[in-house]
Amino acid sequence: MKISDILSRKRTLSFEVFPPKKDSKKKDEILKTIDCLIGLKADFISVTYGAGGSGVRDAAEISGYIKKAGAEPLAHITGGPSTPDDIENVAKSLEGFGVENVLALRGDRPLNNPEDYGKYFLHATDLIEKLNGRFCIGAACYPEGHTESETLRDDIVNLKKKQDCGAEFLITQIFYDNSYYYRLVHEAEKMGVTVPIIPGIMPLLSAKNIAKIRSMCGSTIPLDFRNMIESYSKKPAVMREIGINYAVFQIIDLIAKGAPGIHLSIMNHADAAAEICGRLKNVLNELF
Ligand code: FAD
Repeated sequence: MKISDILSRKRTLSFEVFPPKKDSKKKDEILKTIDCLIGLKADFISVTYGAGGSGVRDAAEISGYIKKAGAEPLAHITGGPSTPDDIENVAKSLEGFGVENVLALRGDRPLNNPEDYGKYFLHATDLIEKLNGRFCIGAACYPEGHTESETLRDDIVNLKKKQDCGAEFLITQIFYDNSYYYRLVHEAEKMGVTVPIIPGIMPLLSAKNIAKIRSMCGSTIPLDFRNMIESYSKKPAVMREIGINYAVFQIIDLIAKGAPGIHLSIMNHADAAAEICGRLKNVLNELF
């Protein structure tokens, strides 16, 4: 089923997983994680695509597993490191597994900055154009603006191009201050973006993840939250509870203000997903 059709009927609950590195034990674990996420009534589960196009086959197989197990997969694809033949092969493989939805991305430029990066697909818009008509397509957006855009306005001008090329829904970069999401939605609507903008939430479960999140996504961590994390960084159980509660608080606020769904990046931690959904039992039952 197309995610755009699900979104036209209801608010969505979705999760992001990543394919494990080549290790059969981890492969079994990811399948168990997926079974657990399906048990939490996920409307769709997205599968990331390794930077530089690595692990493509695993990602397609995992998407196929999700489909077979009865949920909708959303396969991420990055155009930056790919040739048209690479994209054709991935698209055919996904179609073979019955996958109907893709998240079309450019990908992050590798640190060694290869000359031919983006030679065929310079932006997500190029990939969206290539795949349009074969899949229901989603794209990424950035509540705090993409780091390569000088202003949020410039970034939203390009976001509108993603919709014009065929993107039917958007998923945000993770954020810890909901006001960035509300600003993005407001400004994007003013500039003609009408497709649903699904907020991306990642529970921060350990203090050491702060630096990682800042370097990977550039997301601002509000001072109060940061202070809490730093105060309890040596008490992992307390830290985990703070992270879970903060995510629950963000989600309730987003739903109360009309978000069309919630996309949870749980770093393959099914237990954290189950805990968050358990605390939101009535919200999920009555408002999704
Ligand atoms: P683009 O849309 O190309 O945007 C990059 C920059 O170019 C922005 O400044 C934008 O404003 C500008 N721009 C966009 N279109 C145009 C245009 N037509 N003309 C001129 N300028 C333009 N990375 C992975 O490697 N694998 C993943 O699985 C993955 N999953 C992700 C999931 C989500 C929800 C998000 C938010 C990001 C994900 N990323 C992933 C990271 C993503 O690849 C990077 O953020 C990357 O730097 C930008 O990708 P993009 O598709 O937004 O690129």
